[in-house]
Amino acid sequence: MVRPDFAAFETSGVEAALDELLANCRSTVAEVIDQAADQTPTWDTLVQPQAEAHNALSLFWSPVSHLNSVMHSDALRVVHKRCLVKLTGYWTELGQNRALYDATLALRDAPAFTELTAERQREITNDIRSFELGGVSLGEEDQARYKTIADELSRLGSEFSDSVLDATNSWQHLVDDEALLDGMPPSAVAAAAERAKAADLDGWLLNLEMPTYQAVMTFATNRELRQRLYTAFATRASDRWPDGEPLEANDPAASWNNAPRIDSILALRAEKAALLGYSDYAELSMVTKMVTGPDQVQSFLDDLTERAVEPARRDQAELAEFAQRELGIDELCAWDTGFAAERLRRERFDLSAEALKPYFPATKVIPGLFEVVSRLFGVSIERVEDASVYHPDVSLHRITDDAGQLRGEFYLDNYARADKRGGAWMDVCATRQRTSQGVQVPITYLTCNLTAPVGGDPALLTHDEVTTLFHEFGHGLHHLLTRVEAPGVSGINGVEWDAVELPSQFMENWCWERESLDMISGHYETGEPLPDDLLDKLRAARDFRAASALVRQLEFSLFDLDIHRRSRADGAGGAVDVRTALDAVRQRVAVAPVPEFNRFPEAFSHIFAGGYAAGYFSYKWAEVLSADAFERFAEDGLFDRAAGTSFRTEILERGGSRDAMESYVAFRGREPSVEPLLRQAGLIAAAA
Ligand code: ZN
Repeated sequence: MVRPDFAAFETSGVEAALDELLANCRSTVAEVIDQAADQTPTWDTLVQPQAEAHNALSLFWSPVSHLNSVMHSDALRVVHKRCLVKLTGYWTELGQNRALYDATLALRDAPAFTELTAERQREITNDIRSFELGGVSLGEEDQARYKTIADELSRLGSEFSDSVLDATNSWQHLVDDEALLDGMPPSAVAAAAERAKAADLDGWLLNLEMPTYQAVMTFATNRELRQRLYTAFATRASDRWPDGEPLEANDPAASWNNAPRIDSILALRAEKAALLGYSDYAELSMVTKMVTGPDQVQSFLDDLTERAVEPARRDQAELAEFAQRELGIDELCAWDTGFAAERLRRERFDLSAEALKPYFPATKVIPGLFEVVSRLFGVSIERVEDASVYHPDVSLHRITDDAGQLRGEFYLDNYARADKRGGAWMDVCATRQRTSQGVQVPITYLTCNLTAPVGGDPALLTHDEVTTLFHEFGHGLHHLLTRVEAPGVSGINGVEWDAVELPSQFMENWCWERESLDMISGHYETGEPLPDDLLDKLRAARDFRAASALVRQLEFSLFDLDIHRRSRADGAGGAVDVRTALDAVRQRVAVAPVPEFNRFPEAFSHIFAGGYAAGYFSYKWAEVLSADAFERFAEDGLFDRAAGTSFRTEILERGGSRDAMESYVAFRGREPSVEPLLRQAGLIAAAA
């Protein structure tokens, strides 16, 4: 067993131990390359020694990195940061190692390659692909150009997000009369007062950070205030002032304008794609994804658009009518939509998150989650007593299958603490793989930030928190139930980027069904399961304005795909004007008005500074997959054993060892359909 010994953990020894492990990795790599020069490499001479060295490195590093997130200390942060630089350096060096690439190629081209298991073959093929996508296989001149492009892109990406951040932070608005904040939640008003006080000002200071911006746009009855914040937000990092007026080109604030950066980023991405032999960046981006290519994504998005625009228009007309009748807003503007929608939602469903909490005590939800998983996948989950943990709140659990075999273990760390990073996530501790000691049992960390129990009562969770728990548990199962022994494609490793969210979103479905809710809910005082009327409201609220939310996501996805397809190094697509491209997309899908001064692309960090370039569609793609996968259970039974076993064996156990589409078809009997998602959102009629 390779569980971390948390009791023995000491920050002081971390860096020296890491240095030693990295030295071992480097000498291992040098040795396998040497050996490959003398004889044709095999899995055992080339891949296995590296896997063992990297496994040792990862078993050491994963608890360090985890503790830095969940048991934060200044001393550990300093060490962690220094170590991270060393680790990144090592992985970059490895990815650029031409001799290692050549040795891996020799392994793939050797006759013995075909005798390797499919998973080993796939790991080797993936490795070669990463080398090639990193430019290692290019000729000298192209390689130099590739490096320049990569550096330029990384510089432009950080400038892009810095500009958005600077523009966001540079704006504030002082309100001197509390009545002007009417409608806003008390917590947001208090935060604004606090902010003013910190700045030595009298009144309430508003800014463009998400919590404040959202609170104003959703709740403030003062229309002029909403318009002011909307305008400032929609013009960040652009050629406009926060009041929407044009900015003079020589004004210092013009250095934040991201429009020229967008043009450079698109041109460089197109050139990078061309260097690597792809016609455009969208094609390159999809090489590592489950989708087959830009055409498939285009028709996927077109199909959804065709079905969603009409219902979204109806949503919008209904909202405009409501706003006029109930709120006295004659013309529904961009700064009214969120506010009016919230009022309509409140009128329709009088449902607060607080009303549901008593039905979801953690003491019922967590054992209920384990029971759901057990029934679905034929496994059992039990707590490991006396395990070495890093905090009294943390527990260790083991998953055993119905043949009695230990499949994996996970640490559960549920409650918020002062020294813990926010959010919920799953992290890998150990990956299933064959080592010289046999097959290593996989281990994960499951971390949440639920509100800790108060007094003698159990922690009461919101339905959102329950859903998050199921989501993260899905990620965990993907890593823990794997049967794969090749580490690069075991568990979540090597799973296509747009398929990773399938198991997690899939598990969320069990938070919405009567039969499973009876297992995970029970009033903390009376034990009564979630009542039907509350469940009905909860479901109706989920579908509220679903079409509007969908077309908004489609707008972003279509825009992202279009500009990355049309930007071509050979100029074949013509010059791409980002604003014209967005206008064209909006003509097709937007149902709400967008003012002329809106400069959304200049702050679209996801695709210009993050990892979502020509990949924004994957949010919807994952939802389509999980809704479609779930429909098999809706048809065959929520706990149908054949369906559960099939999901386990064809998807969870396979991990990255074969194409995600192949796994999906093996489970579902066909390729995914968009209809279940549309049905779930009430956009098409339920099946008869
Ligand atoms: Zn996720």
